[in-house]
Amino acid sequence: MAKTIKKGERISNGVERVINSDTIKYLGKQVKVSGWVDSVRSHGKIIFIDLRDMSGIVQLVNTSDIAKEIRPEWVIEAVGKVSKRPPNMVNPKIETGKIEISIENLKVLSKAKTLPFSINGGGYEINEEKRMKYRYLDLRRKRMKRNMIERQRVIQFIRDFLQKDSFIEIETPILTKSTPEGARDFVVPSRMQPGKFYALPQSPQQYKQLLQIAGFERYFQIAHCLRDEDPRGDRQPEHTQLDLEMSFVEQKDVMRLTEDLFINLVKKLYPEKKIQEIPFPRLTYEKAMKKYNTDRPDLCKNKNNPDLLAFCWVIDFPFFEKDDKNKWTFTHNPFSAPKPEFMNSLLKKKNIKNILTTQYDIVLNGSEIGGGSIRNHESKALEAVFEIIGYKKKDIKDKFGHMLTAFQYGVPPHGGIACGLDRFLAMMLGEKSIREVIAFPKTGDSRDLMMDAPSEISEEQLKELKIKVIKKSKK
Ligand code: ASP
Repeated sequence: MAKTIKKGERISNGVERVINSDTIKYLGKQVKVSGWVDSVRSHGKIIFIDLRDMSGIVQLVNTSDIAKEIRPEWVIEAVGKVSKRPPNMVNPKIETGKIEISIENLKVLSKAKTLPFSINGGGYEINEEKRMKYRYLDLRRKRMKRNMIERQRVIQFIRDFLQKDSFIEIETPILTKSTPEGARDFVVPSRMQPGKFYALPQSPQQYKQLLQIAGFERYFQIAHCLRDEDPRGDRQPEHTQLDLEMSFVEQKDVMRLTEDLFINLVKKLYPEKKIQEIPFPRLTYEKAMKKYNTDRPDLCKNKNNPDLLAFCWVIDFPFFEKDDKNKWTFTHNPFSAPKPEFMNSLLKKKNIKNILTTQYDIVLNGSEIGGGSIRNHESKALEAVFEIIGYKKKDIKDKFGHMLTAFQYGVPPHGGIACGLDRFLAMMLGEKSIREVIAFPKTGDSRDLMMDAPSEISEEQLKELKIKVIKKSKK
């Protein structure tokens, strides 16, 4: 006869917990399982519980009163014997569909209120702000769990692939100094140096270049990049990049490595997908603009086929363009080298609009999924870039003096790339928004609805930081 274990009492029959998907290996044996109640069905005196854990679902059966009060999403632990289901009860849709566990002991580990929304099904129809507020519940959803697991598989693949190719993963600081990537910096006030601020990295660009000077010829990082951008499309204030940098390479070497990585990744992890053209076609910026009127052309020949992947490269971008104040600014990355034939123009600051950069962007089905370049490794050339975009000598020294100093101590020619993992994953998983592949995304106006961030800080903290907040006057 089954008995309910009282609160606080562990089921102490010496049985170790078995994860749900493994229960099939224990036919005829007693097991202990734990998890969330996915559903409860009552058929007269018999109660069926679908128990969910990280590995999947297993059916528990109970013929006594002990499971009577159990409700969905309660966390329970049960001990029982694994037996074959009668043939007409077999559920081919789940891994454990041939067996069930007859509950002998049951313990409620935690009760649950009715959830604010259903976690069955895709959840696209639910108000997204609500999903974000209760993200930990939304992540219980099968689709979201799959997305997180896929994310981990992709990252793991990248790590293995690059480490096998002699890359080493190095973390770079989050509290740092401004590095221009064309967006606004998030800043953090320093308590110990009042009035001074760190910038959060828009990318590890300068660190990865400095690592080349340090002799780490092949660096990579799964890096968080923080950019204080105005809400635009499907952007996030923080996103994850596969960031890498290599020494003694040319444009073609970085492009080949990136291409190999994507080809192998798709073949291994998403074999149902077909890459339209290998090697990836290359277009100049000029051609892309003329023919497709965009620098991220969608070359896909069959738009009805979501499994067709049309990768391409866009190269030969202009280095500089005029901003809305009619001043020169960089189009991609100020640390890039110009194409060798334009080095003279750069150094002489002549024919600025014709200078082409070594930048290469990788595009997939019309979305930019990465970009990189060969870098300027001579201080004179780097200085020329900053002068063209209007920095005074003193600004250059203040902002980039460390790079110019480092460049005096033996710099290998180097280049790299960064690929946005969120967008790529969303595309592999058929998700329209990158928010669906990020565990804890923010709203379009950069709020974390679950944590309620950003939020005010105490007077005490402000005082310590020597910061005064000017409140908007209510008129
Ligand atoms: N730092 C660049 C970016 O984040 C990528 C690169 O040039 O490696 O866009």
